[in-house]
Amino acid sequence: MGDITRFAPSPTGYLHLGHAASALFAAQNAGGAGGRFLLRIEDIDQTRCRPEFISAIYDDLAWLGLSWEQPVRIQSAHFDDYQAVLDRLSERGLLYPCFCTRKEIQAEIARIGNAPHGPDGALYPGTCRHLSAMERQERMEAGESYALRLDMGQAIKQVGRRLYWHDRHAGRQVAVPEIFGDVVLARKDTPTSYHVSVTHDDHLQGISLVTRGEDLFFASHLHRLLQELLGYDVPEYHHHKLLTGLDGKRFAKRDKSETLQSMRDAGVSVDDVMARIGTLS
Ligand code: GLU
Repeated sequence: MGDITRFAPSPTGYLHLGHAASALFAAQNAGGAGGRFLLRIEDIDQTRCRPEFISAIYDDLAWLGLSWEQPVRIQSAHFDDYQAVLDRLSERGLLYPCFCTRKEIQAEIARIGNAPHGPDGALYPGTCRHLSAMERQERMEAGESYALRLDMGQAIKQVGRRLYWHDRHAGRQVAVPEIFGDVVLARKDTPTSYHVSVTHDDHLQGISLVTRGEDLFFASHLHRLLQELLGYDVPEYHHHKLLTGLDGKRFAKRDKSETLQSMRDAGVSVDDVMARIGTLS
């Protein structure tokens, strides 16, 4: 039986060889009877995403010989969906508004000293978790901007059992979402987050195998918790190795010379691209 896989780029720049490797990996893993390959545009961060990068994604993937189902899900058209997800978590008392600025958080972390660290750096020290309902209300009504954070302790308590997920490369994993602490699920400037929208969309689109780079491995611990809280299906995962350039470094969107578009313009053939990518595991 084939899998339903997806490639889910954020249109914040032109695709490079690392993206090509990831897209091909997802498409190849949809092989077999019933297999489907989807493309999803993850453009929730409207300050960094640009329409020309979306068209470039279509052009680059078509150049690589890939085809995908229509319509393509464009996340920025579905903020209502993500709001509904946040409302469900909020009704269960799992979210709280956080008014802290980055600077305030850093100062508090420095004050505590020896703060625990997670995959994204020092964990939020929980300052706003302790605000009274009245203070929250007053500050929101006064128009102070706020992010929404997950009350991780509460969330784990509500689930009440150990969770697992399976990675085809790394094997069975015990989910440890607590490494993220009280993670932000809706940002001050974006009414959702990568974690909410990706977990929701993978469920909605029936993705059975999430393939992505190993830089996102830890995020799956948190996604597994969100799936459980929301009653979502649990896909399998395959976090693949990241392709590195000739200098041994990961490709980055800022490396303009290594974009697929510039390679195409320079007359590099698709076969050359395939040869440089090799086989990911
Ligand atoms: N949109 C994410 C990115 O471009 C990838 C999301 C995923 O595959 O889960 O890094």
